[in-house]
Amino acid sequence: MSSQQLGEELSWHLLASCRGKNTSLFFPEEPDRAPLAMAICRRCPVRQACLAEALARPELLGIWGGTTEADRVRLRQRLTMRSLRPLRPSSG
Ligand code: SF4
Repeated sequence: MSSQQLGEELSWHLLASCRGKNTSLFFPEEPDRAPLAMAICRRCPVRQACLAEALARPELLGIWGGTTEADRVRLRQRLTMRSLRPLRPSSG
């Protein structure tokens, strides 16, 4: 990875709404209950980039992109199923 690519990938972190917030909000004891973190994520300007990174890295724990670990498992399954769906024959 070039330094430019690394810079681009990390740049969204600088705009994160969770930056400087208490990290324990994003790593709750009950993984599916993090209402404050979810509220912060809903208004975050880099939510899509954050979620994309979390979907690409299953080892990440906690709240990312407004999703819990369980949410991301379901999203990955849905995305996999969608990619495996056969193409529709063209009509006409
Ligand atoms: S979407 Fe949530 S976890 Fe991701 S950067 Fe924004 S506030 Fe942080």
